[in-house]
Amino acid sequence: QRKHKVSVVGSGNWGTAIAKIVAENAAENSDVFDKQVEMWVFEEKVEIGKDSPHYDASVSGPQNLTDVINRVHENIKYLPGVSLPTNLHANPSIEDAVKDATILVFNLPHQFILKTCQQIQGKILPYARGISCIKGVDVSEEGVSLFSERIGKTLGIYCGALSGANIANEVAREKWSETSIAYDPPHMDSKAATPQRSPTSSQVDLVQFQHRDTSGEISKVKLQALPSDYPPINHDILKTLFHRPYFHVRVVNDVAGVSISGALKNVVAIAAGWVEGMGWGDNAKAAVMRVGLMEMVRFGDKFFGATIDQRTFTEESAGVADLITSCSGGRNHRCAKLSVERNQPIEEIEQSELNGQKLQGTLTAVEVNSFLKKQGLEEDFPLFTAVYRILKGQMKVAEIPSYIER
Ligand code: NAD
Ligand code: 13P
Ligand code: CA
Repeated sequence: QRKHKVSVVGSGNWGTAIAKIVAENAAENSDVFDKQVEMWVFEEKVEIGKDSPHYDASVSGPQNLTDVINRVHENIKYLPGVSLPTNLHANPSIEDAVKDATILVFNLPHQFILKTCQQIQGKILPYARGISCIKGVDVSEEGVSLFSERIGKTLGIYCGALSGANIANEVAREKWSETSIAYDPPHMDSKAATPQRSPTSSQVDLVQFQHRDTSGEISKVKLQALPSDYPPINHDILKTLFHRPYFHVRVVNDVAGVSISGALKNVVAIAAGWVEGMGWGDNAKAAVMRVGLMEMVRFGDKFFGATIDQRTFTEESAGVADLITSCSGGRNHRCAKLSVERNQPIEEIEQSELNGQKLQGTLTAVEVNSFLKKQGLEEDFPLFTAVYRILKGQMKVAEIPSYIER
């Protein structure tokens, strides 16, 4: 039996935390996984100060982040203070990082993912499978699609999603949390379909499957079967790869629900941060969260109703639990709060406070609004619309209560 090779595409705050998890599990399950896990790093130079425990007088000046990660086993820029497993290899070449992977884990700020995927088009194993940890949606002229779907379509593979109440700095410090993985490939990947799987990689089964988006366009992707000498990629193996004593995984089928809630809660978290910055208290924040959750459910139902399971919003970590944690300890919330307190644009706060980490809620609010506006539906989503208008300077935070009451 061959072993699965796992690569993580991305190495920011959450990318590195997820890579740590996956590498720990690859090392502990060497019957199923290749021990070495690759992590693609968008290369940059970093400086190690004299007061750092990693200071090395023999290396002076700026160094490659990948070299530092591989030397000290810590991502000193995006996840400082957390030791990484030695079987996690930081790789500055994306082509090299993904070329042998049967399982690809995508974990980047959503604005970078499509360009990154285009770089590896045709350069991955054709029977690889993906998991997207990205919180965002892809909005184009035609409509909204899930990043798992866009990745799958771009690379010609099936891609599921992972999302949950998971502040990266807590997960990386092994504080207990839960997450949701959604994985629902066409029939051929399931255990029941084993006889259909090809005996060798040269004999391939192709199935077509339809993507979920709002465009109504039926786009089909040809999916190549995993050679039968690999363990099947199913719910069990994904649990083996991601579940840790401190990171509890529930695997479900609702890819749309898990992805949509992960993306939209970032918009609500901005509103929650603003309201808190106003000093209005917890009741006000709870009101914003109530309306936000309602709009998240409404959005999912209206645009992905055929596939979404509404219970994901209320029963899974990716739904209400992520909304709650993001509105208390998330970066979108924190930066929004500071922007009110300091009376400064949120983009400036992002620049000055996050040391290169990226907010997802600001961009998502703009993207979602462009879609809602086109549909003539801004009024049906007053909180999302208010967040957009406040970001654009067309409305004030103080107007939120009366605006969302209508
Ligand atoms: P991050 O906010 O730390 O962003 C920094 C990363 O972006 C760095 O790795 C940097 O190299 C990379 N980057 C910058 N410019 C780039 C470019 N042009 N091309 C490619 N990469 C570039 O990232 P993150 O926290 O790992 O977030 C990734 C995804 O995970 C996001 O969608 C986020 O919403 C989600 N998420 C984050 C957390 C969290 O607590 N951080 C938790 C759950 C989910
Ligand atoms: P922020 O990007 O706002 O920090 O949210 C983190 C998150 O997704 C927690 O689950
Ligand atoms: Ca339904």
